[in-house]
Amino acid sequence: MAQIEVIQGDITAVDVDVIVNAANSGLAGGGGVDGAIHRAAGPCLYAECARIAAEKKKAGGEPCPTGDVVMTGAFNIRCKGIIHAVGPIWYGSDKDGLLASCYRKSLLLAQRAGFISIAFPNISTGVYGYPKNKAAAAAVKTVKETLPECPGIGRIVFVCFDRENYDLYKKLLP
Ligand code: ADP
Repeated sequence: MAQIEVIQGDITAVDVDVIVNAANSGLAGGGGVDGAIHRAAGPCLYAECARIAAEKKKAGGEPCPTGDVVMTGAFNIRCKGIIHAVGPIWYGSDKDGLLASCYRKSLLLAQRAGFISIAFPNISTGVYGYPKNKAAAAAVKTVKETLPECPGIGRIVFVCFDRENYDLYKKLLP
């Protein structure tokens, strides 16, 4: 069974094979964890995101619809890849399905890529305003439910930036 850890810190410094970014559907970069990841990875990450976004737009779609994921290289970050997941914006009603999809698709993609360890931020709980307790519950439940389909994944790290999220995750994963 895979090991699940909860830490408080900066996801760009975590020693794992792949880190997950809380991206936006344009893959355009932004603030919060997205900004931190782009700063640490360097400008080549913007270039790769822009190339993927242009390709998807040309094919008639959004670069990365809500609930979906896209993988890029990690450039100056020492992990092997970055999975960009687009969480839902909180408008007052339940979007747990779309949030769960970010965690589920990230795990399945990491497994397909042959990665063993993966770190998640608390997707949607920053500017996207999702209630932290609901987001944490959906994240932990989805990861636990998806893990049996990912026998290659041996280590999952929930990286909490703020104390409130850290305490919530610690309660769910004592
Ligand atoms: P979203 O738009 O999905 O809400 P944000 O980046 O605004 O994305 O916030 C998502 C979570 O990432 C928040 O809990 C925020 O505190 C956290 N966060 C911000 N910077 C970092 C970082 N360097 N490492 C890990 N988590 C971070």
